[in-house]
Amino acid sequence: METSPGEDCCVKVAVHIRPLIGDEKLQGCKDCVSVVHGKPQVQIGTHSFTFDHVYGSTASPSTAMYQECVAPLVDGLFQGYNATVLAYGQTGSGKTYTMGTGFKDGFQTGLIPLVMNSLFNKIETSKNQAEFQLHVSFIEIHKEEVRDLLDSVCVNKSETANGHNGKVNIPGKPPIQIRESSNGVITLAGSTERSVRTLKEMADCLEQGSLSRATGSTNMNNQSSRSHAIFTITMEQMRKTGSNDGNSNECMTEEYLCAKLHLVDLAGSERAKRTGSDGLRFKEGVHINRGLLALGNVISALGDEKKRKEGVHVPYRDSKLTRLLQDSLGGNSRTVMIACISPADINAEETLNTLKYANRAR
Ligand code: ADP
Ligand code: MG
Repeated sequence: METSPGEDCCVKVAVHIRPLIGDEKLQGCKDCVSVVHGKPQVQIGTHSFTFDHVYGSTASPSTAMYQECVAPLVDGLFQGYNATVLAYGQTGSGKTYTMGTGFKDGFQTGLIPLVMNSLFNKIETSKNQAEFQLHVSFIEIHKEEVRDLLDSVCVNKSETANGHNGKVNIPGKPPIQIRESSNGVITLAGSTERSVRTLKEMADCLEQGSLSRATGSTNMNNQSSRSHAIFTITMEQMRKTGSNDGNSNECMTEEYLCAKLHLVDLAGSERAKRTGSDGLRFKEGVHINRGLLALGNVISALGDEKKRKEGVHVPYRDSKLTRLLQDSLGGNSRTVMIACISPADINAEETLNTLKYANRAR
């Protein structure tokens, strides 16, 4: 067995600070986040945090982020290692922009398009040594329910009173279930697994699912900010390994590898404390997303070397999100969390919360 690419530390944490955006500038917001020169260190008020990488508001940080944080995970896929990239942060902090799971900003900004490009380039250069099969799924978890963003038989109704995300599943279609096989492989029963052969086909899946999510969010009081969107690429590989003794006595053997990469645009991390449209004020902390809470606990259990050595229980089963990611977090798999933050002073409190959560993951 080859050594795991993530052996040194199974969770890497990067921070992505977006620039001040139009609205914030109009409101006269000040930049309250600074980066220590030459160090992956972020300062806000009297607090200071060090991460694996920090990407500031310079032009197009996504290429560097891709190279440093995500490319090693794509390489790992070719060796059979599962991986997960998570974008964490309050609504409006740039998660969707960073991942590329939005539609209106175009796909070139995000990590997923960079993953797709690099994946197909690598396949092209490896096709003499192996045969590849790719599958894509794209789902959303909202209030502990899984919804298929690639389900074309979903009826798209924009005016549903109680429909999910403006979409109605065909009656009689069983709910999507997360299953674990005896060897620990997690599968989604009942969701679309689309077989893709080209970059264009994969990009179409991203586009279809992103649009499906965006359409729903305007209908259902911005559900997308409270749901996790998970774009998963599964790669099967039949590797031809052989020794050629110089004569014509070639001895070819085949090796099967299967690995998946989850690219996750997490629900907004803010707590519902602002006045809602119904005029009710939630108490701070009342509405905490179950998946985010469980994810924080799982990642901190994984990141704690002492706990890991003692074989401390990792609470994967506490939410659908962690259950689904179970075989791609910890173990031999590699995880990158990208904490997205706004630099604006009006967001200082949530930004500090995000940095604390991300800090706990290290
Ligand atoms: P989230 O998904 O966390 O709610 P978005 O990705 O939708 O946040 O970003 C909120 C707004 O900020 C969008 O209008 C987006 O275009 C803009 N934005 C986010 N990140 C950047 C960035 N790095 N550079 C420029 N604009 C950005
Ligand atoms: Mg978003």
